[in-house]
Amino acid sequence: MDAISSYKEILQVYWETATGLVNACCDGLEPWQIVGLTCSSTLLAVWLHSFLFQPESLTSRIKKQFFKLLRRMPFVGAIIQKKIDEALNDVTSSLSFLKDEKDYIKALPEQGMSQPEVLQKMKEYSSKGDVRWEDGKVSGTVYSGEEKLTRLLVQVYEEFAWSNPLHPDIFPGLRKMEAEVVRIACTLFHGGPSSCGAMTSGGTESILMACKAYRDLAYERGIKHPEMLVPVSAHAAFDKAAHYFGMKMIHIPLTKTMEVDVQAMRRAISKNTAMLVCSAPQFPHGIMDPIEEVAELAVKYKIPFHVDACLGGFLIVFMEKAGFPLKHPFDFRVKGVTSISADTHKYGYAPKGSSVVLYSDKKYRSYQFFVAPDWQGGIYASPSVAGSRPGGIIAACWATLMHVGESGYVEATKRIIKTARFLESELRKIDSIFIFGKPEVSVLSIGSDTFDIYRLSNLLAAKGWNLNVLQFPPSIHLCITQLHTKAGVAEQFLKDVKDSIEDIMKDLNAKTTGMGAIYGMAQSIPDRSLVAEISLAYLDGLYSTEVPGGEKHMNGSPGHC
Ligand SMILES: *Cc1c(COP(=O)(O)O)cnc(C)c1O
Repeated sequence: MDAISSYKEILQVYWETATGLVNACCDGLEPWQIVGLTCSSTLLAVWLHSFLFQPESLTSRIKKQFFKLLRRMPFVGAIIQKKIDEALNDVTSSLSFLKDEKDYIKALPEQGMSQPEVLQKMKEYSSKGDVRWEDGKVSGTVYSGEEKLTRLLVQVYEEFAWSNPLHPDIFPGLRKMEAEVVRIACTLFHGGPSSCGAMTSGGTESILMACKAYRDLAYERGIKHPEMLVPVSAHAAFDKAAHYFGMKMIHIPLTKTMEVDVQAMRRAISKNTAMLVCSAPQFPHGIMDPIEEVAELAVKYKIPFHVDACLGGFLIVFMEKAGFPLKHPFDFRVKGVTSISADTHKYGYAPKGSSVVLYSDKKYRSYQFFVAPDWQGGIYASPSVAGSRPGGIIAACWATLMHVGESGYVEATKRIIKTARFLESELRKIDSIFIFGKPEVSVLSIGSDTFDIYRLSNLLAAKGWNLNVLQFPPSIHLCITQLHTKAGVAEQFLKDVKDSIEDIMKDLNAKTTGMGAIYGMAQSIPDRSLVAEISLAYLDGLYSTEVPGGEKHMNGSPGHC
């Protein structure tokens, strides 16, 4: 009673003081001035808010502006431009796939070639390149390569060459195949009765679709600027999704063992968080993220949680049966996991152009779908990015699953993980290099505190190996596929690593050249937009039909150390 009335009195005093202050401020102002000030300060506040809170952080934008300014300055700008031009030259001249190309077809042949002529011409193209992936010299890239499977796939493709799942009434069998591929994947990842999914053209599209679904779900929940919390080790497809769909990307750091830092993830959660992400395993170092712990956050804060198993999805589901049980569960059995992406075209051994995205419940998938109800061409309903899709690839994927079967996958997984564990234990015996974290699946990432690790990749390249080059921190990795499980391949790799390191140790201060040098330099440039700009030369190169001018001799090729 008394407490309440004295509360009221205090409030009254506050109110009077506040209104008095405001009135004093407006003293002597004309009404139009008060209205004008109110309007302009409101506009200023709105502008300030939209300036401060954009998908790209303020510091990142300030940094960009600073570097832009730097490049406009008279002398500094010219020096930077010169360096860029040099780097562009370096990149273009080290694009091995452009070398030795002497002529290009730039217009249709006036008269169509006969079929034998086309086939002969085709052989010219298929025999290009001297990296021997068939001999297991390449990291990842080709996951099976088995000849018997190739012949089956060609036959299946032939049968479905003209089919398109956009027309299920015309190709009902194809629809059934696609539905079965998705259901099989749901079963493998222990999805419940309401689990579902879709086939896509690859891991990137699977990830794009999950992000799009969660963005639209966030919009519906009233989030205007949806954010995704993504480990720095997660695939760049998430950055692509953020870029395409106007979401804010928040990168979450890793612990020393290269797992995502769960505490940092927890701290980054806000009212704008649209989705959490983990990888199983992540691409750079092959480490499984702490999925159970992140799932707890997902449940607690009611946020959708995507597990990216694009790379290892079709290994991890067989590891228990293969005799290498993983330390922690990773699939729909973990409460809080709402979606999973898994590439049939990696360890599913299907041809490129197929992947699945799975959801724990249909309510999530509905946000992935797109419908244009008013199109003149009819009511247009489409599940994923593409409209028309290659039915032959879906049929080939289905055929691969049927042909390999559980026993085949378990057997392949056993061989691959055995090879990975053997290589890991042997590589750990070498003093001057180390393996990142505790890889549980098929990727081994190598670093060194003794020498520039890119020199090792250069020397291995000279011996015919093609490893993945990683950055932040500098490292290289081998993604072990069926091709590395053939007799002698792992032993040859170890021998070549040891021989190369012996060479490197002879001259620890030698300069790194070639691709390694380019990567080393790229990491030291603070202005990342420069790196992006230089990388465009690579993308331009992909579509080049120009014969490199003159006989310029470049020594920037990978393969020299
Ligand atoms: C390969 C991969 C992807 C997707 O790649 P695509 O090339 O689009 O199939 C996504 N995440 C991880 C971890 C991957 O290794």
